[in-house]
Amino acid sequence: MTTGSLRLRKGDVLLVVDVQNDFLPGGALAVPGGDAVIPVLDTCAEKFDRCGLPVIASRDWHPGDHCSFREQGGPWPVHCVAGTHGAELAATLALPRGSALVSKATERDRDAYSAFQGTDLGERLKHLHCRRLFIGGLATDYCVRATALDALAAGLEVIVLEDAVRAVDAHPGDGERALAELASRGARLARLDEVHGG
Ligand SMILES: [Zn+2]
Repeated sequence: MTTGSLRLRKGDVLLVVDVQNDFLPGGALAVPGGDAVIPVLDTCAEKFDRCGLPVIASRDWHPGDHCSFREQGGPWPVHCVAGTHGAELAATLALPRGSALVSKATERDRDAYSAFQGTDLGERLKHLHCRRLFIGGLATDYCVRATALDALAAGLEVIVLEDAVRAVDAHPGDGERALAELASRGARLARLDEVHGG
């Protein structure tokens, strides 16, 4: 694992994955300690914004009869139904004005853990001339993992903000294993205090 300073530069983009009410404590599919990512991401987004660098947020945005729900034979309780309170981004998430929003898994018959899957995120990043994608959010072992793997596959440098992610840990250690897997695939794991303005 590399440690040290990460100076923000042109081509850096921050992606905030699924920081939605249903994934926070008290939500339908709460990630333990999920709310702890919010202040870290807020500070990180502010650093990006001060450098004039873009911030993008993704959200799970399901129809009410989505295939990932148990009622439809899927693995999860009903969560992040489009237009509901549970699907809203956390109220305390302070994204810079003009941040883009990417909705995923919007079709009934398809789930998408990755923010790239079935969205225009890849195109957006190309238009932004993104070279390094900083990723934080929920949950480490599902949507953060899948998104980071797709970003690596797209040829981007990936930095996972390890103090800005939390895991479901359906099986104890899932989150740690996901981070180790991402590191072994070439992602860099970093903490907020390593990220510095340009
Ligand atoms: Zn979902």
